[in-house]
This record gives sequence, structure tokens and C-alpha cells, in this order.
Amino acid sequence: MTTALAPTLTAADRCDRCGAQAYVRARLTSGGELLFCGHHGREHLPKLQHLATQIEDETDRLLEQEFSTGVGER
Ligand SMILES: [Zn+2]
Repeated sequence: MTTALAPTLTAADRCDRCGAQAYVRARLTSGGELLFCGHHGREHLPKLQHLATQIEDETDRLLEQEFSTGVGER
């Protein structure tokens, strides 16, 4: 079990555009919330900077997953 850097986005969070697992969450000034996968996150983040009050970008985890696939805990 790891307690460090607990992700706030889970496998249940899905990209609003394509339904893939979400790695970016944007809280909008309107009070709404948008979820994006890594791909769509990169695509939309530049625009969201103006609309969102807070952006959580967990796309780093995509890289970690690639490197740690099948390795388990370090
Ligand atoms: Zn997507």
C-alpha cells in the first residue's frame, strides 16, 4: 500500500470526449467540472486555462504506468 500522492482521479472517472480513463480534471468558473484523458487533456488544456479555476493534471501517471507495467511496487 502506498499513501504518497494519492490520486484524486480514479478508473471510474472518464474523459468527457472519448470515454477513456480521465487524467485531467478541470473545475470551471461556472461550477462545473470537466474530465479529460491524457490525449484530450493536452488538446484542451490551453483553452481551459481561461475557463477553469483549478486544473488537476495527473497525466504524469500515464508515464509511470508505462514504465512500471508488470513490475509492481518498487
Ligand atoms: Zn479523451
